[in-house]
Amino acid sequence: METRFQIRSITVSSNARELQIVWADGHHSRFPMEGLRRSCPCVFCQGGHENMGKPVDPAIFLEPSEHDRLITRINQVGNYALQIIWNDGHQTGIYRFERLRNMCPVENGLI
Ligand SMILES: [Zn+2]
Repeated sequence: METRFQIRSITVSSNARELQIVWADGHHSRFPMEGLRRSCPCVFCQGGHENMGKPVDPAIFLEPSEHDRLITRINQVGNYALQIIWNDGHQTGIYRFERLRNMCPVENGLI
């Protein structure tokens, strides 16, 4: 796998309400938690199987906050994805590294 899709470190900053990822190519990503939750890839959040696997529009990170979604825990899934467990108990979203990197709001010039 390309280094830009490999993770070096993961930090959950509850104060900043961000998930921060340092990638193997040295890029630092910051994902505001609200946008991360809105982009949850699970079938329920995507509204059905026919909507699965579509690329995320990074502008999702610019939408105003409606909820107070915080990350409780993160589990790594193999060497390709993260399972994010939220403070409301939602935990079916498996965020693939490639998908995360491609929607990085830093790299897309949004934050
Ligand atoms: Zn979901």
